[in-house]
Amino acid sequence: MANERTYIMVKPDGVDRGLVGDIISRFEKRGYKLVALKLKLASEELLREHYADLAGKPFFNGLVAFIGSGPVACMVWEGKDVVKTGRRMLGETDPLKSLPGSIRGDYAIDLGRNVCHGSDSVESANKEIKLWFNEDELVNWNASLYKSIYE
Ligand code: UDP
Ligand code: MG
Repeated sequence: MANERTYIMVKPDGVDRGLVGDIISRFEKRGYKLVALKLKLASEELLREHYADLAGKPFFNGLVAFIGSGPVACMVWEGKDVVKTGRRMLGETDPLKSLPGSIRGDYAIDLGRNVCHGSDSVESANKEIKLWFNEDELVNWNASLYKSIYE
């Protein structure tokens, strides 16, 4: 459905490298609608919750420390099949396995510096959007270009 939403977050490595604009641009040009956007220094508590499914993995503490080490650019994008398409636009978790043309395939090499997060299911997206944004930060608006994007 065209009102599906996903949580996309440029990680501190991506923010530091000046990739926020490019990543926003890719989602805009694809035809998705931006419904929330902010820069944030995330607390350890928030990051432990965000990555809760990975607690216990050997890289968990390092991951939480790194994502909290600098600002992240948090956004919510809306449109048809945006969760799955967003993941395809990101590439694989491992940048070296990601095809050129994808965000990670174009900009990253190491697993722990893969530039951008994207929700892996509609269920995770709903959880992550609630975790990172207050309801009043999500803007409902009509994109005039939708008539040129959707048939
Ligand atoms: N990660 C890592 N080492 C690993 C696996 C994952 O540093 O062996 C990091 C990587 O940055 C990844 C994040 O942990 O993006 C979350 O892992 P997940 O499996 O959820 O991958 P994603 O959903 O981001 O593709
Ligand atoms: Mg994940």
